[in-house]
Amino acid sequence: MKKVSIVISAYNEEGNIDKLYDELKGELKKVKSVEFEILFVNDGSKDDTFCKIQNLVDKDKRVKMVNLKRNFGHEIAMTAGMDYALGDAVIFMDADLQHPPVYIPEMVKAWQEGSEIVLTKRVDNVATSKFYKFCAKTFYFILNLLSETKIPESMPDFRLIDRKYVDFLKGFNEQDRLFRGLLSWIMPNDKVKIIDFVAPERFSGTTKYNFIKSLKLAIDSITQFSVRPLHLATYLGFFCAICSILLGFHVIFEHFVQHNPTPGYATIVSVVGFIGAVQLITLGIIGEYIGKIHIEVKKRPLYLADLIEQNSKGIKRDK
Ligand code: UDP
Ligand code: MG
Repeated sequence: MKKVSIVISAYNEEGNIDKLYDELKGELKKVKSVEFEILFVNDGSKDDTFCKIQNLVDKDKRVKMVNLKRNFGHEIAMTAGMDYALGDAVIFMDADLQHPPVYIPEMVKAWQEGSEIVLTKRVDNVATSKFYKFCAKTFYFILNLLSETKIPESMPDFRLIDRKYVDFLKGFNEQDRLFRGLLSWIMPNDKVKIIDFVAPERFSGTTKYNFIKSLKLAIDSITQFSVRPLHLATYLGFFCAICSILLGFHVIFEHFVQHNPTPGYATIVSVVGFIGAVQLITLGIIGEYIGKIHIEVKKRPLYLADLIEQNSKGIKRDK
């Protein structure tokens, strides 16, 4: 019988684990044709998430826990889950019930009917404000303008991926990773199905993405998939050079032809200020890329984890 792994990343989600498990149990019962493995990734939670998951491991042998030794972030947590998943297909979902388990039978059915990647598309997100939606739209517009790899909007990390593509994804070992970007990079033209869904409110707790984290994710997303900002810096340099030359001609013209030079340090200050700003922006962009190279060349392991699961002799810890 084929196996499907469900990878759930959880950071400080003590209020959601039991409710999520109950809903999952109900939905998984409806799918008789495959067996399931439920792989919680505890991303260094500081609350009671570990104990909540441990209780589930104790009572249900389908449940396993990849316990990260500290908080590594959502992207790495999903990577760790993917590394430990044994299924012929892997479903990724969040722990806060914003990815409703009720869609799992439909995802599995699509996979059994031949789809190798089953994506979900948020048709509405009742949890987010108009301002957040506007920011997200602007972000994806800029990202797709700058990036060679197109990353679709409203495609959350709730998806099913066939083992073939999971193994492809495991081949990407960059430190700084954006899962949905990597997935877009390997996305085939066929055998992809998209399921629409409405994202409900978080069941318990608050979002782990504050403004600074979201901004960092936005900058990382652009620099990971594109060197266009570097081209942009070069174009900006050319643009400034042309403006300065034209301004120079204008000053010469006023001085020698019109005999009426424009007095003024104001022009000089503004031009110097403008060129200074352009240089700083350009250096900043180059710095972002050098920073990325610095991180990547060290080739550190992505995470530290142990696997906690039940076997015939009781609870077992790996590594
Ligand atoms: N998450 C994680 N590690 C982190 C931050 C978040 O594993 O450092 C998990 C979190 O527990 C949740 C999922 O990633 O299951 C998505 O996070 P969240 O709901 O805060 O993001 P949002 O839905 O607000 O974008
Ligand atoms: Mg959420």
